[in-house]
Amino acid sequence: MASCPFATQRPISGPSGAYVGGPFKIVHHTTEGGSAQAAMDAYAAKKADPHFTVDGAKIYQHIDTGLGARALRNAERGVQTNHDSAVQIEVVGFAGKVKNRATLIKVARLCRWIEQAHGVPRVWPSGPPKPAKNGGDSGGHNRGMATWDATGGHYGHCHVPENTHWDPAYSAMESAFVLAAEFDAAGVLTNRDHPAVKAYLDYTPPPGLKAVKPQVITDHFDVGES
Ligand SMILES: [Zn+2]
Repeated sequence: MASCPFATQRPISGPSGAYVGGPFKIVHHTTEGGSAQAAMDAYAAKKADPHFTVDGAKIYQHIDTGLGARALRNAERGVQTNHDSAVQIEVVGFAGKVKNRATLIKVARLCRWIEQAHGVPRVWPSGPPKPAKNGGDSGGHNRGMATWDATGGHYGHCHVPENTHWDPAYSAMESAFVLAAEFDAAGVLTNRDHPAVKAYLDYTPPPGLKAVKPQVITDHFDVGES
């Protein structure tokens, strides 16, 4: 059982049940919307809560990380998804867009806490999420069941078996930053000189990127456990 000490507690639909397998992993999603409140309204309607929602201002915790969340599809047969010790984070933003920097810094801090609390290794076992291509799904995601079932680490929704969504589509720089950033107890970044941290903080997205209309994953919250 674990509550993040620097998260705002905001229970919505409650846990989906106990985990039935492991090892612990972190699953990254994007909300496919522009605000934490809109995402939380959608979870309430669809009973599709993750453990956490993160925007540039706050980290909200909806479910204790010791119990299953609801933001993944799970088929009757095959492997477990929500119940496979998957700690799920919804990042406010779009798979098809550059993520907000303040938000991603908070996501990285939260990941360090989850890794510590549940012994999650700081790796992408199925590779980093594939970045969006012209604001849309690049395809070719590694959704291998064996890796998911047996390996702790970080996964995108795009890597989860029995699921079709392609979020969070972090860029290579975003994926590297989320794993590399270190923080002190107050949440201040402590390794700005780390190559992956520095590269991400120094990067300015080209203006052309903003012009691309993202392909929004419209059914993103239709995946919750009933
Ligand atoms: Zn997702």
